This record gives sequence, C-alpha cells and structure tokens, in this order.
Amino acid sequence: MIEQLIEKIKSYNPQSDIKAIERVFLFAKEGHKDQKRNSGEPYIIHPFQVALILADLNMDDATIMAGFMHDILEDTECSFDQMKELFGEEVTRLVDGVTKLKNLKYKTKQESQAENIRKMVMAMSKDIRVIIIKLADRMHNMRTLEYMTPQKKIEIATETIEIYVPLAHRLGIYAMKWELEDLCLRYLQTQTYYDLAEKINKKRVEREREINEIKILLSEKMKEFGFEGDISGRPKSIYSIYKKMQTQNKTFEQIFDLTALRVIVDSIKDCYGVLGIVHTLWRPIPGRFKDYISMPKQNMYQSLHTTVINSKGETFEVQIRTWEMHKTAEYGIAAHWKYKEGRNKSNNFDEKLNWLRQLMEWQKDLKDPREFMETLKGDFFSDEIFVFSPKGDVINLPVGSTPVDFAYRVHTAVGNNCVGAKIDGKIVPLTYTLKTGNIIEILTASNSSGPSRDWLKFVRSNQAKSKIKQWFKREDRDVNLIRGRENLEREVRKRGYSYAEILKDEWLLEIANRHAFNSIDDLFVAIGYGSVTIVQVLNKLEEYYKDYYKTTHSVQPMTDFKVIQHKAPEGVWVRGADNIKIKMARCCNPLPGDNIVGYITRGSGVSVHRKDCSNVINVPKERFLEVFWNEDIKEKYQVTIEISAFDLQGLLAEITMKLNENKVPILGIHATTNKDCTVNIAMTITVQNKEFLNSLIFQLKNINGILYIKRAH
Ligand code: MN
Repeated sequence: MIEQLIEKIKSYNPQSDIKAIERVFLFAKEGHKDQKRNSGEPYIIHPFQVALILADLNMDDATIMAGFMHDILEDTECSFDQMKELFGEEVTRLVDGVTKLKNLKYKTKQESQAENIRKMVMAMSKDIRVIIIKLADRMHNMRTLEYMTPQKKIEIATETIEIYVPLAHRLGIYAMKWELEDLCLRYLQTQTYYDLAEKINKKRVEREREINEIKILLSEKMKEFGFEGDISGRPKSIYSIYKKMQTQNKTFEQIFDLTALRVIVDSIKDCYGVLGIVHTLWRPIPGRFKDYISMPKQNMYQSLHTTVINSKGETFEVQIRTWEMHKTAEYGIAAHWKYKEGRNKSNNFDEKLNWLRQLMEWQKDLKDPREFMETLKGDFFSDEIFVFSPKGDVINLPVGSTPVDFAYRVHTAVGNNCVGAKIDGKIVPLTYTLKTGNIIEILTASNSSGPSRDWLKFVRSNQAKSKIKQWFKREDRDVNLIRGRENLEREVRKRGYSYAEILKDEWLLEIANRHAFNSIDDLFVAIGYGSVTIVQVLNKLEEYYKDYYKTTHSVQPMTDFKVIQHKAPEGVWVRGADNIKIKMARCCNPLPGDNIVGYITRGSGVSVHRKDCSNVINVPKERFLEVFWNEDIKEKYQVTIEISAFDLQGLLAEITMKLNENKVPILGIHATTNKDCTVNIAMTITVQNKEFLNSLIFQLKNINGILYIKRAH
C-alpha cells in the first residue's frame, strides 16, 4: 500500500526523500503492531490514510512523516528524544504539536473545548502544519466513524461540526470542509441526510442533461470570443443544500441550483471576459453577483460568482476563476505551503492570515477560556458581512452588526467618540443592522461623553463589547500613561521622524490644551485609554512641524541641482535628481497625458500626482519637483472609472464586452444598486494613456442607459 502513496508524492514533489518516508512508515507499523482499530483492522491503516490525505493536499515530506507518526508518542513507548534522534527535530516537533492537542483534561466540557481551540490557535501560529495534520487525522476518523458507539458518534461529529469544519473553512480547505460537513450531517441528522441523498439522486440525470446543454452553449460562445477554459458542473454538497433549506426555510423542491457551473481560465482578465459572456447569454439574478477576485475572502478564496436564469426559468450558479485561484479554493492554506521553499516558514502566507493574527490579539486580552470560546463562536466562526468605509476599505463583521460594531472595528477611539452614523449617505440610528455592501460613515465628536451602557445591549461583535466594558472599567492611569506614550513614539518612528524633531514639549502641551487637558501626561493617558487617537495628535504635530520648518528652518530649495534627465521605470522623467525612487500616487492615479507634479516625500522618493490632486494643492512649493511623461511609454496604468446608469438587464454584460473588444483588462468591479432604479459601478481597469481612456469613455457612453461616466478622483 505504501507504493500508492509514493506515486502520489512523486507526482507533485520529485525531490521527495522517499527512503525517509518508507523508514517512517516501517517505524510506525512496528510501533502500532499490537494495536487494532475499532473496525478490527490493523492500526497502521489509520496513520497511513492520514499520510495519504496529506499527500492529497500536496504537503511536504516532514508533514507526511509526522502524519505517519502522529499517534506514536501517545500510544507507544517511543519518547520525544528517541524520535528526535531517529527522524530529526522538525518532524518530531510536528508530532509533538499534534500530540499536545489531544492530552487535555478539563472539568467541564465547555472548558475543555475552549482550551482545545486555544491550544489549536497557539499551535497554528507556531506551525500551521500541525493543524493540517490534525484535520487529516479528524478526516479519517470521520470517514471511519461507523465503528464507534452511538454516543461517541454524536460526540465526535458534534465536535467536528463546531470546531474542525470552521477551521477547514478558515484555512480555505474547501475539499475537506465539504466532506466533513456531509459526514457530520450523516451522523447528526441521519434520516435527513439519507432522504436528501435519495432526492438528489433522483434528479441527477435530469440535472446533468441541463448542465450539459448549458456547458455546450457557453463553450461555443467562449470560443467565438477567443477564450479558452475548462467548464465543469459540480453537484452541490448535501450539507450545503440542507443548510440552504434551513436558513431560507425552503423545501427541497424549492431549491433550484443543485448544480454549480465552474469555469476555470488562465487569467483574471479572462475571468471578467467570461463573466461578460455569461451575462449576455443568461439573465443575471440581481444581488447575486459576487466579486471575490477584487475582494478576496479572508481565507484567500477568490472567484467570481453569479447566479443566472435561463429561458426555461432554471437558475444556476456560475463560478469563474483562474487555475491558481482554483488550487487555493480546493487546498486553501495548504496550496500556499510550498514544499520547494523547504524548511523555513513562509512569511508569504503568514501575511495573508490576518485573521489569525487578530485572533491571537484577542486571545491575549481574554484570559477566561469561556469568554474566549464565546468570542470565537461569535466573531470568528459565525457568518460574516462585508461593509465599506467611505474610503472603500473592506471591513468584515459578524452578521447582525451595527454601526457601533463597525466604529470599534475601525478604531477604539472612533467607537468611544461615536455619536451617529450614516449608511450610504443617510443618517441611521446606531442600532441599525448592517448589510453587506453598506458604506458606513461614523460621525464622531471629540467632546462626546463616551460610549453608553445601552450599546452593550445591541452590539454584536465581542470586540465592541469588550472595548465598551473596558471603557467603563477605566484601567490604571499609570498603565495608560505608559501605553499612550509608547504608542505615540512607535507611530512617530513609523512615520520616519526622530523624537527630538517632532515630540517637542511646547507642541504636545498645546495639543493637550486643545483637548482640554492640563498636562502632557494627561494627553498620554487619553491616548492610552483610546479616547484621543494617535492620528489626531500626530497630524497636529506634523502641522506644527511643517510650520516650524517653513518659517525658520525651510528645506533647501531644489533649484541648485544640475539638470539630469532620468528615465524612471514608471515612464516619468524627473528634472533635478538622478537615481531617485519614483512612484505613482495612488490617490489620483495619473495617466500619461495628465498634467503632473512630483512631490518629495519624506524618505520614500518622489511621488507623482496629478497637478489638480487635492492632496498636493496646499503643499509648500519647495517640496515640488518638475516631472514629465516619457514620449514612448509602454507601461499601462491603473485607473478607476465611475459609471452611473439605469439598472437595465445586461448592462454590466455590455460594458464588460465593450472593454473586451478594446482589450482592456478589468481588475475589479464594485456595483451598488440604488432605490431609484439606477446603479453605480466603480470599475478598475488598466489603460495606456489619457487619450485612450477618453476614447473608451466615449464608446461606453453610447451604451443604452448610461447616465454619466467619469474618472474617479
Ligand atoms: Mn489519529
């Protein structure tokens, strides 16, 4: 049986140390030789299957070896040191990590579960592979659950649906998530599971015929427009249909999209191109288009989703993604574990795991395991909504969140000083339930009296709850004094100033007085509490700083430089300086043809703005530098256009087709529908210059229903 595994490993990792894996296999076999599984099979079958699941996820050698030995330390005489001597530190650490997750004894069930998760989160932050092994272990145990006692079945399946399924989801390993969910349903709601399975089976032939017709039609149209891609139909999992019936209160007969159509193409540009074709062929169902490409899920999942309806009235979901996105969708974090990168931890995916870091932060604050558990279940594992800040930052919150939750997610001080909120430009009560797509503006007042105890009754996120409670607790003044000073100093360093040049006592006192404090210490304490933000203080300090250097210590004017024409990689010439770092400003995204100006930043070269950009209008002249566009620019530039139009059927399709014709790649679409039957679409595209953009806008304006198009500022 080992050959089957080795073939699999070789197929994705030719450099694999097969000898070492065989050695581990024999060692594990020997170690477990007197044990049997509940099924009566030799025990080694279990670690072997775990290793096989890990190989399916294309994991590296160390993970597979640890998979083989994951029960060795617990079930046999072998010690940590012996294993380390035989198989090295890395593998042994992984095995030890998995073993530690099991040996937990607690009084109450809830306590033990909370502690289990806490351990898992800790293990994850050290080495995510420990959790992947644990998931593979649980996967095989769930597949062989039938040999357990009825009580054990329920216990294990419950733990799986509460902890392991959300983990697989969070790590983006959908292949595992779906199988685990179906298995859980089978043991927790046995009758429902078999009923559904039978009903789905009855419809299968009919559905397959429908999907086939749809596939043929789409593939013909794609060929016609020069797109290549793989189209396949995927039956939805039994659990996902069950879940839909539950949440939408529907019968099986009322659920139509039992199948999803999946299109996999080579590039992001093709994704939007195919989307255009899909929307031309079939009518999209409003509100069902989701762009997870420009707005990836936290678990890195990317894809375009749209649900359409054909002439027979049948609805089906279409998912469009690239091959790389597809790999991420199936294997999640495991797809980003590159065995080629070898033993060192990859920082690359670390960065993408922001939620993990956030969780680590919370678990530091929450000492009580029960509170930690509630936070997890409430914030971390529950379904989420996605909302926007006025600047377009995406913020995810648990379903049922209010503007107050949003405010606390943005910043503690924003929460503490929140006095009102606007959703999509209209004032709403603070108890308003947020919906995905809302643009939220928090109204704050620096003289607000702070949060109200009533807020605790309606906020949804535990983060907001604990911040509000914290405000009422009012920790030690001393602690906050130190914290406030340190946080300010850290931010000062981050912005590239030295303490001496910007943290001048007279300026700090001035700011303290402005906030009605008597001393600088009081100001630090307020920063520590979070009732005054660092940004507020720092912006004021920067103002003083600029004033000071403008009058008495102004910077060297740039006129003395000898004139060198330097070709920058971005296609912009700078007069006056050689070897200078140039970047295009993100605020106004200049295009060739625009009037531009260079702004000398502190420590990061020159940033090129449009001359009319509001960010540079009030900047002192001496910070400017003359910059020019190159004559022969080959680069393409990112630009966002805003379209306002009547919400006509096929509008988005027509726009995307028009852009396709002009070979303009789309990098992102964000559409919001208004109550007055109009729609606002913000579209990020790349173009070569202003002239081209103007001609494009001219063409788009001819599309029926378009009210206006303008370049975003
Ligand atoms: Mn096991």
